[in-house]
Parts: sequence; structure tokens; C-alpha cells
Amino acid sequence: MQTQWIALHDIPANGREFSFHDQDIWNRLFDDYALPCRAEQPVRVDFTIIPANDGIFVQGTVSGTVILGCSRCLEDARIVCNEPFDFFEPLVADDNASRNSLVREQAGILEFDIIGLAWEQFIMALPDKPLCSPTCKGICPDCGQNLNAGTCTCRKEVGDPRLSVLRNLKISKN
Ligand SMILES: [Zn+2]
Ligand SMILES: [Zn+2]
Repeated sequence: MQTQWIALHDIPANGREFSFHDQDIWNRLFDDYALPCRAEQPVRVDFTIIPANDGIFVQGTVSGTVILGCSRCLEDARIVCNEPFDFFEPLVADDNASRNSLVREQAGILEFDIIGLAWEQFIMALPDKPLCSPTCKGICPDCGQNLNAGTCTCRKEVGDPRLSVLRNLKISKN
């Protein structure tokens, strides 16, 4: 797992800029987190960190274009990222910190993981359910046919059985 720990006291009061645009770092992160993702346009996360008493202010942007698997049909979904972010991260070292914690205390010095922070912002810039197209029809759960490419024969008139009552209703208009 890639990490890069920065001590809070190494950040000047007027802030410090960070930029992650090395595609080797991103490709290793995709591997580390087993995210099936590839960059079509370089991924970059740029941000400024300004220290506060009990945390840090972080402000920046995620940009780039990545290819993810469509959540319906598994074909390529092209995601254009251009997401500004702006948040406050409290720097409290948690004794029970999980492995993925962004904050730790080493010999009384508070540190935060700058790569972990960039990764979190990248992940948050991605849609929960990437789609190849807003109208993607998905795949047939019975035969696996990609329904964007054509219809299959196994699902003619299947629907929610509770709705069949409604479907058979004859609406009479005067
Ligand atoms: Zn799709
Ligand atoms: Zn089918």
C-alpha cells in the first residue's frame, strides 16, 4: 500500500501545495485497491493544505478521464472527473485506527497520509454506479446477452408479477 506521511508541523502556516499527477502512482493505486480502472486522460489530484489547531483545511480538484466497468453491462464506462473539493480533516490520531487511517501519531508527532488523502478524493469523485451510457440496458440475467447490442429470446414478457394485475386492467373511458 502506498503511503506518504507528512508531519503536521512541516506544513507552513500559509499552506503547502501538493500535486499527484504521476500516472505510475495512480496505476499502482488502482492495483493496490483492486480497482479495475485505467486512465484515458491523466488522473491528477492537486490540493492545498492549510494547517489549523486541530486539523487541516484541504482544498483542491480531481481531474482526468478514466475507464471503469459499466455497473449494468460491464463494458467500458468513460468517466470524466472534474471535481473540486474543500473540507476540514480533524487530525486526531485514533488508537484503534484502522489500517486505512489517514492520521497517525509517531513519537508524539501528528502525521497524515498525503497519498491516502488524494486517493480518497479521487474515489469520491467517481460515481457509485458507473454507466457506459445513461440509457444502458444492461445484460440479460438469464443468457448474458448484452441488451445494448441486441435483444435475446429468453425474456419476452417478464415483469413484476404484482404489476400484471394492473397490466390487465382495462381502462374504460367515457
Ligand atoms: Zn453499460
Ligand atoms: Zn436472455
